[in-house]
This record gives sequence, C-alpha cells and structure tokens, in this order.
Amino acid sequence: MTDGELGVVLKTTPLRESDLLVVLYTITHGRVATVARGARKSQRRFAGALQLLVLGKYQLGRRPRGDLWGLDNAEVEREWTRLASDVFAVAHASYIAELVGALLPPEQPEPHVLDLIVALWESLAEGGPSPGALRSVELALFDVAGHRPALDACAACGAIDLDAGAVFDPSRGGAVCRRCAASSRGPAIRPIDSGTLGYLRAAAAAPSPSAARALDSDPAFLPADRAAGRDAFVAMAQSLVGKPLKSLEYIAKLGAARRQP
Ligand SMILES: [Zn+2]
Repeated sequence: MTDGELGVVLKTTPLRESDLLVVLYTITHGRVATVARGARKSQRRFAGALQLLVLGKYQLGRRPRGDLWGLDNAEVEREWTRLASDVFAVAHASYIAELVGALLPPEQPEPHVLDLIVALWESLAEGGPSPGALRSVELALFDVAGHRPALDACAACGAIDLDAGAVFDPSRGGAVCRRCAASSRGPAIRPIDSGTLGYLRAAAAAPSPSAARALDSDPAFLPADRAAGRDAFVAMAQSLVGKPLKSLEYIAKLGAARRQP
C-alpha cells in the first residue's frame, strides 16, 4: 500500500539493464521524470500502474540525481485498460499523453490537467474515440499552456471579421483576418472558413470531452468542417511543440490503413 500522489503515466522508456524511466503527470508535482528501479525485471512494487489508461498513486522517493526522482512504488486507483484493445482509443490517449508531456513545463502542477486526461478516458470508455472530444481536450491543453487559439477575433489585429479570406496561423496564435493574412507565411498556414471556426468554437464551449461528443453528429457541421478543424488544431499542436508528434504520425497511419480496401 502506498500513500503516494495521484497521477498518470505519460511515457515509459527502458533505462539501463533493469530500470524504467517513467514520466508521470501528478497532481502535486505536475510533470515529473522518475526512475523505477528494477521495473524491467519485476513490476510487483508497481502493481500494474506503470501504463497508460491507469489513474494511479505514485510514491516518489528521493531524487537520485539531477532532475530525476525515484519511484518507490505505485498502485492502481482506477483503470481504463480494457480500452487497450481499441487501437484508435489508444492512439487518442497516447496523443494527449504526448501533448501533455511536450507542451507543459516540468514540475509546474496544473491539477486541472489530470482531470482532463481522465475525462478523455471516460469519454473513450463511454463511446469510443471521438473527434469532438479530442478537439475539446486539445483546446483545454492549449489554454493551460497559455496558448488558447484565437477563434473569435483576429489573433493579429483583433478584428472580429473572420468571414472571408481568414487563415489559421499557429505561429501567430490562431485565426487571422484576411487583411493580416497577407503577412502570414509558412507551410502550417491554411484557409479557415466560418463553418470550421463555428465547429472549433463549439468544441471550445463544450463543458467536457463527453459533451463535445455531440459535435461528431451535429448536423450544423459538415465533415469538411470537422476535418479542417482537426488539421488546424494538429498544426497548432505541432507548432507549439516544435517537432513532429509520434502519436500523430501513428494516427495518420491508422487512418490510411482504414481507408484501404
Ligand atoms: Zn487582423
């Protein structure tokens, strides 16, 4: 038994012969890098809690060196591991874990982030992978990271006229009006129309990932709005992280495989 702190695993990487490097997001420390000694040989001390889709209690020990903490033991508080058989659900959960790991600074706790991750898993358990739910979690994470994308007014000049000729420019912070778009440059910039902006605003207004599931079948939005909204937010994520996200490459491969006969 442990009286450790509530958290989730963002990533595990083999370390030396028998140890595991475990990146956690915990309620009191935020993102922390820990070393689970001997975890590659026996995970008994960690009781199934060193994996994605588990809300666990993690006992951090002394910091053996630098910015690494020891991970003494762990136990499962709640789990959603039955989702592991759904590759798309795992892909969504992995993407959000990678985004949290890459977007939020180490050891700056934002308790809301743990709620968001768990809310996404709840939504996945409730009805499977949902683009609407994923957009709402992405947006909330951009917000926590201090980069809430502009969707209501031009990110550059504040004009509220985004109806014609607007673009989505991640490096300038979101939607940019036609006039300012003339000075937007780069491969990440894409046109954005009022249907797509409406869809993303609706995702932003949804009170929870589960509530945002309704956007998947809302007749107010076209499939093209959902696809363009996804592309805009994915471009935002890539731009903020500054490098390709492995989980997104995996999702793209899954999508391509599904389209094959
Ligand atoms: Zn403008």
